[in-house]
Amino acid sequence: MYDLIIIGAGTAGISAYKEAIKYTQNLLIINAGTWDTTCARVGCMPSKALISCANQLHAAQHLDRVAIQATITAQTDQVMSHVRQLRDRFTHATLKDVDSWNPAHKINGQAHFVDSQTVQVNGQCYQAKSFILAVGSTPNINTTWQTTLGERHLTSDQIFELKTLPQSIAVVGSGIIAIELAQALQRLGVKTTIFARSKRIGQLTSPTLQQLAQQELSKELNILFETLPDTVRLNADQKVEIQYTQQQQPQTLHVDYLLNATGRRSLLPSLQLANIEASFQDIKQLQIDEKTRQLSNYPIFIVGDAATSTPVQHEAAHEGKMVVHNCLNYPNIQNIKTLTPLNIVFCSPEMASVGQSYKELQTKNIPFIVGTASYTKQARALVLGKNQGAIEVYVAPQNNQLLGAELLVEAAEHLAHLLNWVISEQLTIDEILEKPFYHPTLEEGLRTALKHARRQLNAL
Ligand SMILES: Cc1cc2nc3c(=O)[nH]c(=O)nc-3n(C[C@H](O)[C@H](O)[C@H](O)COP(=O)(O)OP(=O)(O)OC[C@H]3O[C@@H](n4cnc5c(N)ncnc54)[C@H](O)[C@@H]3O)c2cc1C
Repeated sequence: MYDLIIIGAGTAGISAYKEAIKYTQNLLIINAGTWDTTCARVGCMPSKALISCANQLHAAQHLDRVAIQATITAQTDQVMSHVRQLRDRFTHATLKDVDSWNPAHKINGQAHFVDSQTVQVNGQCYQAKSFILAVGSTPNINTTWQTTLGERHLTSDQIFELKTLPQSIAVVGSGIIAIELAQALQRLGVKTTIFARSKRIGQLTSPTLQQLAQQELSKELNILFETLPDTVRLNADQKVEIQYTQQQQPQTLHVDYLLNATGRRSLLPSLQLANIEASFQDIKQLQIDEKTRQLSNYPIFIVGDAATSTPVQHEAAHEGKMVVHNCLNYPNIQNIKTLTPLNIVFCSPEMASVGQSYKELQTKNIPFIVGTASYTKQARALVLGKNQGAIEVYVAPQNNQLLGAELLVEAAEHLAHLLNWVISEQLTIDEILEKPFYHPTLEEGLRTALKHARRQLNAL
């Protein structure tokens, strides 16, 4: 019997293996498909490579904002080849690491449970005292659209394989992945139309910032809010024909491809958890402890995107590492969700949320003061020609501690880290305002928002 079996060798599973190996050699890691992680192969890394190309092209095409005239174009076949080269560099680094592991610890294949202590892979059974389920997720598919459109139907798993970019695309979805890819494609010259089920884009929950985000992104993207395709078909010219309705009027759109970016579904069903307990058939009803990640009262722990409200890479890696101790010290188990929330959307301007979101504070009836700063006239943002968006900081009136923030601004990725770290340190806004703010920087906008909050607190 093994001490531990890890199922899934993505970000969370790899992180778990690297931690576990420090304490035991009596373990297995099982993975279906390639061992190069969703993040490196089809997730964070190729998407950020594509976005970087798109943003640099966009910036060069808008140099007139800083009084420079230039005409710049892109060869999208070269862009896509560059994206794949970078992607390969990241996947090779991961595979090189995995190749260095003891081959006796690794099994290629799809695992499923036979009972609570036994999994089966490639017809062989393996038993362990504890399990880490790190099976991740996969894009939602509309099978009707997929069958109808064939290779004209894409998800984020296929988009980076395009040899060259098309003239036009419809993106269905307005979540993080949809918005990042749609804006990048538009900036690279692809006429992009977004079908958004709701009146919401990205993850911002502040009504003011959400509205501002819709306004800013609508300036360059055709976003059809509260609209989904009625029918989808391939016409005689091999174009995707989408029928939809707006203001009760039927409309038709012809595009080269449809990118379905309507979210992701967990791969937990592949594990046949019902063989442990019949009630585990419905994975939405699984009893997973939010803090320890334990499944019901079994020595089985679920980490990463397989079951999470925070489907981000650093959380998957952190959970994978920490959960090993819950397995090896079982039944002494601990909270492993210890990180201050941090979520970044690499659209432009970037969106970020840190700590507790506006909606979370409201839902939990936690009193908070909102300090705001607009970046439309912020000095550094003006100099950069990136004077868009705004930020909000959320402060507890009883002790002046920073609880959270939402941002829609250039370089939000960096500002969000600073805010995240000061929230983790439980600093009050007075303590934060005593820190240096270099001039002129985007960070000075944080000071404006914090001071706005302090003025309101002083007036209470
Ligand atoms: C387009 C895109 C962009 C993203 N951008 C970002 C970003 O900028 N920043 C960020 O933080 N996050 C981003 N993410 C999210 C991030 O990639 C994920 O949070 C992270 O990869 C999750 O890791 P994981 O270990 O849970 O799953 P994965 O890396 O998907 O690993 C799961 C592994 O388990 C295997 N598996 C599944 N079922 C079985 C089975 N039954 N038996 C054996 N093996 C199995 C799978 O084949 C896979 O190898 C992005 C995701 C996408 C898709």
